[in-house]
Amino acid sequence: MRHGNVQSFKSRKEHLCRHCSTVIEINEYHLALTYKRKAGGWFAIKFHADCFRFYTLGKYEENLQKPKKGSAGIKGGRPRIDLAPEIKHRRRILLMYLNTRDVRRIIEAYKRDKGIKKHYQQMIAHIDELEEIGVPYPQPLKRIEDTLREYDEPLLLTLAPATWSERVEILRERFSD
Ligand SMILES: [Zn+2]
Repeated sequence: MRHGNVQSFKSRKEHLCRHCSTVIEINEYHLALTYKRKAGGWFAIKFHADCFRFYTLGKYEENLQKPKKGSAGIKGGRPRIDLAPEIKHRRRILLMYLNTRDVRRIIEAYKRDKGIKKHYQQMIAHIDELEEIGVPYPQPLKRIEDTLREYDEPLLLTLAPATWSERVEILRERFSD
């Protein structure tokens, strides 16, 4: 599947990630997908490096749902499945929780040595809800890595080599009741 041109950058200014709708920070390595406009010139959409594969995977799956060329409206053609606006909204909220609030609360919990389990459980609940919508959460580790290095290195060492879905399972086991 063709996606335009992909280029990698370090941001010189803040951008919004097209996949997770949160900020790509200054100096953060990220990917830009550039397209040629029909009217001429180029435009680009930006992604966290980790988010990019979920974006392309989503597009790929979306493409499979589309009716095949020439079969639109014909019996047997696959109908396109679109997310309802309220589900899209919820997805955006969940990603915002995961990328900012949940992470911040986990970091604070480590610092206070209080409520760690509760905030992990909250994060896992959000990840589960997101997956039910059909959106995998890219990185339950990236933003807490430094905190884990300081407060729970064994957990970091367990998580680091795992795939993202294994990480969720590891967290689920570790912080279940
Ligand atoms: Zn992102």
